[in-house]
Amino acid sequence: MAMEFLEIANLKKSFGSGEARQEVLRGMNFSVKRGEFCVLLGPSGSGKSTLLNIIGGIETPDEGFVSIAGDKLEEMNEKQLTLYRRKHLGYVFQQYNLIPNLNVKENIEVGAYLSDNPLDVEEVISTLGLQDHKYKYPSQLSGGQQQRVSIGRAVVKNPDILMCDEPTGALDYKTSKEILALIEDCNHKYNNTIIMVTHNEAIKAMADHVIKLRDGVVRHNDVNTQKISAYELDW
Ligand code: ADP
Ligand code: MG
Repeated sequence: MAMEFLEIANLKKSFGSGEARQEVLRGMNFSVKRGEFCVLLGPSGSGKSTLLNIIGGIETPDEGFVSIAGDKLEEMNEKQLTLYRRKHLGYVFQQYNLIPNLNVKENIEVGAYLSDNPLDVEEVISTLGLQDHKYKYPSQLSGGQQQRVSIGRAVVKNPDILMCDEPTGALDYKTSKEILALIEDCNHKYNNTIIMVTHNEAIKAMADHVIKLRDGVVRHNDVNTQKISAYELDW
């Protein structure tokens, strides 16, 4: 049996206090195997980004734990956590967050610099179809091209986990499909475990594992999903 790579156990998280207290995660459990393309679905405000932030070591849970390859995040000290974030995680967001005064190649080199096991920058540039844009600055690129660079910066680290939080939220339909296909290529080529939040229909053909969140808990957990219906994606 393949080892559970990422384990989420009884995760709880609230924000605010008193009347304003809001329980966002209410005991969330699931696990993901190495190399899986895992998709998180749920209505807006259901805690998807909060969950990614906890897996990313940016937020801490009130209860429960996250473990990666058997190591619990809560047992890591500040230095270990920094290394974990730098070396083992790649993040892709809806906003591309590129460094404006660095060109495409340099933005991707930033990711390589953070890792002790980076991929070849030129190879990643060609995987992402950015050869003709290497020396352009972010302001000279379309949204889809900028998102390619942000995927490159994350993937070049050769991260164990590539976390994507609505990566196509700001893109048109056709570009979104291209971006999701590129992330799928990276999953196959580099065997990154992918945790992705998206509402994009094109994900139906790509996901190995679909987790649906509602009211702070996992409502549906389906491994090796062949097809997700449009209705289910839509909420
Ligand atoms: P989703 O990504 O599923 O839309 P989020 O995880 O962003 O949901 O947010 C879930 C809820 O938690 C929202 O109501 C949001 O306002 C609240 N929330 C998230 N982060 C914080 C924070 N740092 N402080 C206070 N409330 C927060
Ligand atoms: Mg979100």
